[in-house]
Amino acid sequence: MIEMIDVYKKYSNGVIAANGFNINIQQGEFIYVVGPSGAGKSTFIKMMYREEKPTSGNVMINGIDISKIKNSRVPYLRRNMGVVFQDFKLLPNLTVFENIAFALEVIEETPNSIKKKVMETLSLVGLKHKARMFPDELSGGEQQRVSIARSIVNTPKLVIADEPTGNLDPETSWEIMKIFEEINLRGTTIIMATHNREIVNTIRHRVVAIENGQVVRDEQRGDYGYEN
Ligand code: ADP
Repeated sequence: MIEMIDVYKKYSNGVIAANGFNINIQQGEFIYVVGPSGAGKSTFIKMMYREEKPTSGNVMINGIDISKIKNSRVPYLRRNMGVVFQDFKLLPNLTVFENIAFALEVIEETPNSIKKKVMETLSLVGLKHKARMFPDELSGGEQQRVSIARSIVNTPKLVIADEPTGNLDPETSWEIMKIFEEINLRGTTIIMATHNREIVNTIRHRVVAIENGQVVRDEQRGDYGYEN
């Protein structure tokens, strides 16, 4: 599904954040991306949803090199993937319902079909009863559930999450992980950067460790592996 071939990324300030990434990811996998701060995890992930372009190399998704597509095609690419951030990135002036519907409305759905899909997705994340609330009326964990709902409402085959539990307490983090597990069980590929050792060591999945812009470890059912 995803293949990176000799991917290099040098930012304009001269920092080399990707120093030859090579990786192959199959449909349906759940992958933790671990490594110290500044290792290149976010850069690795951002190149998968074309937030960043590599300086050289190929980022293939379903046979298309997304590093080569025109900017005007990026919104089409993003429709087929969900992205979840540490800081949720919900629109503060829209309700929970509207935040999720916003992701659908761009693809010209009818009002009834929007309502059905949004409510089904809210039900999956356990927040149907909060559809009319605004983000600042919700806890951090609830806001993250909304952002997960937004990421999956178009039923993408791929969900990319950059430290989705980074701002949450341990108990809430486990709740959020249950939702990602459920999404993965439905066949969706999950790629998640995380610093959460306990989660990585408990809910076992493939672990890709990044250091100095390179994959230094890639293990099925691996462990977190760092001391800090
Ligand atoms: P991680 O997610 O593992 O903390 P990042 O991918 O964010 O690592 O960063 C890798 C390196 O690239 C770091 O040295 C960081 O300072 C640098 N970097 C990240 N984004 C940018 C940017 N937009 N411009 C310049 N340097 C950047």
